[in-house]
Amino acid sequence: MSFKNKVVVVTGSGSGIGAAAAVLFAENGAHVVIVDCSETRANTTAGKCEQYGNKVLVIIADVSKQEDDEKIIKQTIETFGKLDVLVNNAGTASEEKILDGTILDTYDKIMNTNLRSVVVLTSLAAPHLAKTKGCIVNTSSVASTDIKAGRPFPSYCVAKAGVDSFTRVSAFELASSGVRVNAVNPGPVRTNILEHAGLSGNWEDFSKSTVLKKASEPKEIANLILYLASDKANSITGACYKIDNGMALC
Ligand code: NAD
Repeated sequence: MSFKNKVVVVTGSGSGIGAAAAVLFAENGAHVVIVDCSETRANTTAGKCEQYGNKVLVIIADVSKQEDDEKIIKQTIETFGKLDVLVNNAGTASEEKILDGTILDTYDKIMNTNLRSVVVLTSLAAPHLAKTKGCIVNTSSVASTDIKAGRPFPSYCVAKAGVDSFTRVSAFELASSGVRVNAVNPGPVRTNILEHAGLSGNWEDFSKSTVLKKASEPKEIANLILYLASDKANSITGACYKIDNGMALC
């Protein structure tokens, strides 16, 4: 899979799945735009990408804010003159309950970060992707359909269900512009999301909830993201791929 001279934006690429995807895109020839709300994390990933000799642009942005999303696309086009691949990956979760009303404290943040950002960035990127016949890969979750997998995170489940739906509706509309849109739906992946989002739980327990009894490594998810973004996936659009160690089967 060659991404030579392709311009690839990966949101939430300071850590975890996004970082693994950004490094893998760079390794395969892409100019990568690292987007993260953490400058330290973004610069760490940029350092890893730079070793491959392609251009790397770091944009510090909070994807839940529309003005930041506008900045991401504007700076990308100003720097590279085009956009080939958008990976809407940034995400977070929050433990909350419906009965005690704690969902009302966190719902907007979770929806704006996990779903609204995908809608806004897709809309802003679409005219540029139409020019390059580019594509979009969204990082959803097995929790979009498997409520048990996302049990303590109701807003997260709703947001990721929205990401799946938006993947299909945007694939439908953008097909006539030559733009493909797909999603990956991971189960447990050993990243820093628990620490970053202040969540309880641990990977060992999550692993027990899968039929393969393991959590994935970020690079395994990155491999699927790159495949879906590559020419090898030219017949795939509107698809949401579970990569969950069989979690949905439990
Ligand atoms: P992570 O915390 O390791 O990395 C996420 C990165 O996104 C962090 O660097 C963080 O700073 C950044 N980020 C968070 N909110 C942001 C915002 N508003 N604006 C810009 N950057 C922001 O987590 P991860 O596990 O790699 O998560 C990546 C994606 O994978 C998320 O969408 C998550 O929902 C999804 N996912 C993760 C798992 C898992 O088990 N780790 C499972 C299914 C889906």
